[in-house]
Amino acid sequence: MSIEIDKLKCVGCGKCRDVCPGTLIALDEEKRAYMKYPRDCWGCTSCIKECPVHAIRFFLGADMGGLGSRLHTEKNGDILRWIIEKPDGVTEEIDVDTRESNKY
Ligand code: SF4
Ligand code: SF4
Repeated sequence: MSIEIDKLKCVGCGKCRDVCPGTLIALDEEKRAYMKYPRDCWGCTSCIKECPVHAIRFFLGADMGGLGSRLHTEKNGDILRWIIEKPDGVTEEIDVDTRESNKY
């Protein structure tokens, strides 16, 4: 289970590094984020939600029924949109109203 960081999109803000509970992400000498310990990622998705430029994708492996799909998020006000890009090019989107999170 791991993530992929698009270095061309990364603006070096360091938010993903700061939020990762396992300290798995670092910034290189050009201030671009990279995954230092990919095998240790447990998929909490915190870094994906923090990235302001949507540079991080999370792999949804076969063990999760994702069959190689990739997941990222985009935020619009209180709405967090989960975007799943499937290997066949199909995209699925799920909107979550964060005001309703942890309601139950
Ligand atoms: S998904 Fe969670 S554990 Fe994995 S790199 Fe991102 S913040 Fe760290
Ligand atoms: S949060 Fe996004 S833009 Fe900021 S350092 Fe991480 S990958 Fe780069």
